[in-house]
Amino acid sequence: MLTLISLPAFDDNYIWVLHDGRHAIAVDPGEPQPLVAFLDTHELKLTAILNTHHHRDHTGGNLLLRQRYNCAIHAPDNPRIPGVTHTLRGGDTFMLSEPELHLDVLATPGHTLDHISFVGHGYLFCGDTLFGCGCGKLFEGTPAMMAASLDAILKLPDATRVCCAHEYTLSNIDFAKTIDGDNQALQARERTDRALRAQGQPTLPSTLAQEKATNPFLRFHEPDMTAFAAAYLDRKNPDPAEVFGAIRAAKDAWDR
Ligand code: ZN
Ligand code: FE
Repeated sequence: MLTLISLPAFDDNYIWVLHDGRHAIAVDPGEPQPLVAFLDTHELKLTAILNTHHHRDHTGGNLLLRQRYNCAIHAPDNPRIPGVTHTLRGGDTFMLSEPELHLDVLATPGHTLDHISFVGHGYLFCGDTLFGCGCGKLFEGTPAMMAASLDAILKLPDATRVCCAHEYTLSNIDFAKTIDGDNQALQARERTDRALRAQGQPTLPSTLAQEKATNPFLRFHEPDMTAFAAAYLDRKNPDPAEVFGAIRAAKDAWDR
């Protein structure tokens, strides 16, 4: 049986762990110490690290963890990621034996050009591509690129559990309300997620169904988001990538 755990790291990162009671894999260990403490407490051996992209808050633990556990490191092909043992690209599938996992790799560029996501066993590990009610900033890619990445995620089953690398959900909800305030699913999510955070609980994993209903960055094909973008851009009939780009631009302005 597989168990999924989120370990808080830094101020707002999550390191996601999947384990079978003996062996564990970790996604995006930006710092080693919370993971080492968890593995020690539960007497688990780390067999593999999965990295979604090159940012240090996702890869900073690689070398120390590899030294300590001699674990494999599966990551995109980018020399900026330390300690990689197996490089991956979109369309790859790979197997791990301890714990037994079968994972598909999705190319999800946009936040960075090297960004990949991992799909398997009902989980999506999407790094900084998709957040609870939000998405990653476009540091390296274009809106069209990110929209295509999110379209690939939209094709996954509704029950997929969405494992994001940051706890940004409440502030993302605050923004979402400014452009989608009448959305009742969003209002319900705000109540649920505020209660979770008040108790110190993560808002993640969410489900893809919940993100489709509430996350403006997954709703760029919908008429109401298209209408928002047309007004924001002052242009008729924006295409879906332009709608996505308008929502992203509005969020970037709101963040400042
Ligand atoms: Zn990042
Ligand atoms: Fe990050």
